[in-house]
Amino acid sequence: MLTKRTAFRHMSFLAAAALILLPVFSLSAQEKKRPRLIVQITVDQLRGDLPHRYNAEFGDGGFRYLYAKGVVYEDAFQRHANTEKVVGHTTLATGADPSTHGMVGNVWLDRETGKLVYNIQDARYPLLTQGVGVDQSTEIDPTQRLATTEGRSPSPILVSTFSDELALSDTGRSKIFAVSVKDRGAVPMAGHGGKAFWFSKKTGEFVTSTYYYKDYPAWAREWNALKLASSYSGKSWELLHDPSTYLFGARDDMPYETSFPGYGRVFPHSFGKSDSEYFTTLLTLSPVGDDLTLSFAEALMDGEKLGQGPSTDYLSISFSSTDYVGHLFGPSSLESEDNLLRLDRSLAELFKFIDQKVGLQNTVIVLSADHGAPEVPGYLNEFGIDAKYFNAAPLDPKTLEKRPGVEAVKKKFGITNDLIQAFFPPYIYLNHDVLRGGGQNLAEVQRAVCDELTKMDGVWLAVPSGDLTEGSIADTPLNESILRNYNAKRSGDIFVVLNSGSFINDFDGLTVASSHGSPWRYDQFVPIVFVAPGVQGQRVFREVSTVDVAPTLSAILGITYPSGSVGKPLVEVLERGSEVAVDTSK
Ligand SMILES: [Zn+2]
Repeated sequence: MLTKRTAFRHMSFLAAAALILLPVFSLSAQEKKRPRLIVQITVDQLRGDLPHRYNAEFGDGGFRYLYAKGVVYEDAFQRHANTEKVVGHTTLATGADPSTHGMVGNVWLDRETGKLVYNIQDARYPLLTQGVGVDQSTEIDPTQRLATTEGRSPSPILVSTFSDELALSDTGRSKIFAVSVKDRGAVPMAGHGGKAFWFSKKTGEFVTSTYYYKDYPAWAREWNALKLASSYSGKSWELLHDPSTYLFGARDDMPYETSFPGYGRVFPHSFGKSDSEYFTTLLTLSPVGDDLTLSFAEALMDGEKLGQGPSTDYLSISFSSTDYVGHLFGPSSLESEDNLLRLDRSLAELFKFIDQKVGLQNTVIVLSADHGAPEVPGYLNEFGIDAKYFNAAPLDPKTLEKRPGVEAVKKKFGITNDLIQAFFPPYIYLNHDVLRGGGQNLAEVQRAVCDELTKMDGVWLAVPSGDLTEGSIADTPLNESILRNYNAKRSGDIFVVLNSGSFINDFDGLTVASSHGSPWRYDQFVPIVFVAPGVQGQRVFREVSTVDVAPTLSAILGITYPSGSVGKPLVEVLERGSEVAVDTSK
């Protein structure tokens, strides 16, 4: 007979059973809610304020969709000192600092061969299409020109990426892809286990290396056969709207803008004929580079049926035009403004495409940037801010070697051979063999050369790596960011920081309007925006950084964090997500 007491106990048992069952039930709901697709968008050189600046000019469905629906981190930054492309991309991909993931610069000195090398070069894995790599005669990117081989692979990346952990979590069933105009915008994101494609300026096609494929997939061959790049032959980059509607509408012809031969510094910017020397280069210096990237990415999504299988798939798209346009004209220019309005339309098209194929409700989108952007000195000067170009010639090893102050250092330490081995911004490399032979204290020599460099006009600080690693240096945010960039095998002996208004504008012969790469705030400031199913849009003002992105993606899926990751999952993206995960009504 059920007494009142036993009935109560029975009820308690049922309640307890329900409590035990509930998490199990929730877990299965969570399983169902696992996103089908993760789309990681990285806009090269998109400083954190720029999407806000043009918000009123954007259309619907692009940036506005991200900023209305997403968790928007307003105080987000790359926390390392060398704010360059491969460094920022790999940090986003791994959640690790460059000291750990190893991509300390677009270029570094290989101490074994004594040669400067390009970040993702790998002679073992030539391009799948022979001879379509860097054309030394027309390549304007000085870092690309330093590559000693056409081969590319992610092998130089020393830790796992989020995409690697995704592959490991389900025996490789997840489909993992990365696309970018630049090889170094795609390779880090695809990780070691995914597949990367990038644009060949030689052919106007998207290519890959034998690391990834023995043969092109059919959809890629078909896209390349369309010869889409050639369709821009004889065309120009024209303004999307009437000039009067632009913030920079009256400022098209500014003396500090780069006038690339045939392309000029005012609209319309002509691409020339498809057989002209710089035709494909000019496409990448315009929004067309992003258009081609998007078109190829859509073919990829269709061809590989991304987001339509049982696992969570991953696609990284890195848009590079913002960077090229920024270098040529500066971030505060009519060209940059029009480029972002066009990127906004491209994003709207991308989101519509994803919605049709996969459903935005099944997709996690994360947007960030590999680095921010400095203003052009001429623009800063208009507002009374002291800024000018820095002549880097005195830092050339041969010139620096002969500088009286450096000669005095050599005399003091009894160094008779060449001390300065290499300079590639921001690092100066000393000749360790010479110092080893002479028995000098490396840290002391570094410090003495730094004292000399700091005297130079335009140099803010020269930081010796010995002091950094021994901890005998002030614990400042600047020094911390340089330490996060320090990898003993790849970083130089001295990190040179220029003044906040001091910029190198000579790209190995090509003079540009602006260049990033500093630890100053404008170069570190990036957007981080997550749009995840069921997550309410909100603005978050606490400080976060790009090392948090990969751990957040891992946490959303409940998979292992990348091996070198030091960031923390962003709770605003997760708390709401878990609320949705237990909602079984849908
Ligand atoms: Zn750049």
